[in-house]
Amino acid sequence: MEVAIKVDVDTHQGLKLGVPRLAQTLAREGVSASFFIAMGPDNSGRAIVRAFRNRGFVGKMFRTNAVGTYGLRTVLSGTILPARPIALAFPSIVRDLKHRGFEVGVHGYDHVRWQDHIDRLGEDGIRGELEQAFEVYRAIFREPARSFAAPGWRENATSLKLLDAMGLDYRSDTRGQAPFRCLVEGRVLAAPEVPTTLPTLDEVMGREGLKDAASVHRFYLEQFKDDSLNVHTVHAEVEGMGQLDTFAELIRALKNRGASFVRMDAIAARLQSAELPICEVIRSEIPGRAGWIAAQGPAIPSAASSGSAPTVRLAN
Ligand SMILES: [Zn+2]
Repeated sequence: MEVAIKVDVDTHQGLKLGVPRLAQTLAREGVSASFFIAMGPDNSGRAIVRAFRNRGFVGKMFRTNAVGTYGLRTVLSGTILPARPIALAFPSIVRDLKHRGFEVGVHGYDHVRWQDHIDRLGEDGIRGELEQAFEVYRAIFREPARSFAAPGWRENATSLKLLDAMGLDYRSDTRGQAPFRCLVEGRVLAAPEVPTTLPTLDEVMGREGLKDAASVHRFYLEQFKDDSLNVHTVHAEVEGMGQLDTFAELIRALKNRGASFVRMDAIAARLQSAELPICEVIRSEIPGRAGWIAAQGPAIPSAASSGSAPTVRLAN
């Protein structure tokens, strides 16, 4: 069983407190992982304001104890309190991840802006978010980033095309079943897409029958597949903070089941020249998560299976 742990870092507090704890836990267990860090300001308070406009999410806020999980400072960040920087506030923590053998990629610039407004940003707005995010990464590491994971798993045709023009090694923007290449407005993008294949803990917590750590644990062990790549996204603000024990237990259970842990860039290296399914990126919904996410659509039939149809040549 192959498992990639993808750590999303959305907030100032998550980077400051959650990331060092996760890194320590992973190192202790001898597990490699890929961290994706929001490079810009922490406007997470605005996500809370959005939550109060969305009834389903308010219930979830209480069930999952958002103030308890994120802290009051984060909940108000970018609203009545100023937004704090994320990556630039703790460049040494970010660099330390690489020194310890973890992969570090870009998780957007302003996470909330991307997630809430991607369809309103327009090409210039999206380009601005990407340029700033990759600039911060370069300032911290003195080398360009090679991977991107979309904030909130949100992409549109404009952002996907802009990202593809950057020549990254891979992206992890969607929820899906297995690595694929994105078909966007009739063109196959060059960089492979490595989707998150499992539900996140914050989506699962509080579901019917999943109220305690033991049942959540059992649920996850049923979700991991023995015969294919599992990509599990965890959050610095959730597994790195209040749910660290649940996470550590899951890692140990996976190790007992014989899982091998791989960094996502290692998977991507294998995929560069591989023949992958070609799929459209569709919009879908996930139980326990508010609003839409980008998802792996059905595979486009290949030339081999559709008789005389022209072969789709990869733009690699
Ligand atoms: Zn995120």
